[in-house]
Amino acid sequence: MKSRWNFDNSYTGLPDIFYSKTNPTRVSSPKIIIYNEQLATGLGLSNIDADILAGNKLPEGAQPIAQAYAGHQFGHFNMLGDGRAILLGEQITSQGERFDIQLKGSGRTPYSRGGDGRASLGPMLREYIICEAMHALGIPTTRSLAVVATGESVYRETELPGAILTRVARSHIRVGTFQFAAKWGTKKDLQMLADYTIERHFQDIQNSDNPYLSLLDEVVKRQATLIAKWQLVGFIHGVMNTDNVTISGETIDYGPCAFMDTYDPETVFSSIDIHGRYAYKNQPQIGMWNLARFAETLLPLIHDNQDEAVIIAQNAITKFDDLYKQNWLAGMRAKLGLFDENIKDEILMNDLLTLMQKSRSDYTNTFIALTFDKIAETNLIYESGFKEWYEQWQSRVNNQKVSKEDIQELMKKNNPAIIPRNHRVEDALNAAVQNGDLSVMERLLNALSSPYSHNSSYAEFAALPPQQNCSYRTFCGT
Ligand code: AMP
Ligand code: MG
Repeated sequence: MKSRWNFDNSYTGLPDIFYSKTNPTRVSSPKIIIYNEQLATGLGLSNIDADILAGNKLPEGAQPIAQAYAGHQFGHFNMLGDGRAILLGEQITSQGERFDIQLKGSGRTPYSRGGDGRASLGPMLREYIICEAMHALGIPTTRSLAVVATGESVYRETELPGAILTRVARSHIRVGTFQFAAKWGTKKDLQMLADYTIERHFQDIQNSDNPYLSLLDEVVKRQATLIAKWQLVGFIHGVMNTDNVTISGETIDYGPCAFMDTYDPETVFSSIDIHGRYAYKNQPQIGMWNLARFAETLLPLIHDNQDEAVIIAQNAITKFDDLYKQNWLAGMRAKLGLFDENIKDEILMNDLLTLMQKSRSDYTNTFIALTFDKIAETNLIYESGFKEWYEQWQSRVNNQKVSKEDIQELMKKNNPAIIPRNHRVEDALNAAVQNGDLSVMERLLNALSSPYSHNSSYAEFAALPPQQNCSYRTFCGT
């Protein structure tokens, strides 16, 4: 059966300033490198042509656009927009769910500035791998439907094979979209964007007393939930600019992100993040900073009196800290096998993290060792103070009126065995890009698709790199 496109293009109902009609640029010889059958099926699609995934042919009902947005990049405000992405339209599933279908790397747009509008194969496969891993970990994220090689070269520092990724998202509305509206639109434009966003993502708040304040509250909640999930698995986004913060609460923009091996709150992988603005430990507070930028855009809608609006918005933003903390504590309790709450849990958690940091323990594997009672195999066992910590934790865990099996089940569900380890991702990309060998990536993707199965046949993917790769570097915009 061929694809059943069921496109809507609701975004084009917004005022013209929010987008530019732009067609993908033709590419010479598209070839599917990887295709996400399961995701396609969920979207009601099958056997999608390489020509469609490359932008050479448009799906029925598509009205391609590039979206306008702005954003604070490393704290500096800029006009941005889809410089190398084109939204084909919104696929409506048989359940009535709406998903943006976007081609990334499909040529220049009015927002390309000096860029070529292109993407290369390695980074697009990297996005595919990591976002699919995030999805399997239970973290809200944009998804990848396919990567096609274009048959053309792109030029960065060297000549690289060109590629296009098909990104699937609940929407591509960003904090930066609101910043764009607040800066260059009229109040009416801003309100239309806010109403559209509420209709698309937050229908429950449509009848609230102050829907725009409720919008802020909801986005604060979603980001607090999301960032807590990142922290709990050791994910470092790497480029938390406001244009890379979705209103839907999905993780977006897999440029320089990476997972931490050794537990170190200062960890930064991105080559351009010289001051560590987006270091692991800073992610929650940067999340709140980004939400403050979002709140600023909503001020004129929240209250006619600017001073009142500021007070109301500040109140809403302040809730982030508590919400984040609640989410993180709940997640960490589950990782430690705790069903109930105790006032001293936070100390117990932080003590463990301190011990992990001192002993340079692997973040993921420490929790696995606790889950499977294999702590003797870790560095922690040699750390002074660990024995006391372990006894305290054991007594806390065993004082619960829950069976040992249930405790382990809870831990198994909350401590992934398999994360996309940097050295594994690199091996997969090298094999694919340099040797045209996709088998390494396929095996990795297979392991990543069930991080909580604790299946011993995946053990090789839980292993650490030969040397701790703290010097691992990632790159954006490639
Ligand atoms: P990012 O770092 O991916 O969040 O991108 C920041 C901005 O640069 C966005 O407006 C992108 O559309 C734009 N951009 C990144 N790479 C390219 C490229 N190769 N050509 C044109 N625009 C690009
Ligand atoms: Mg971006």
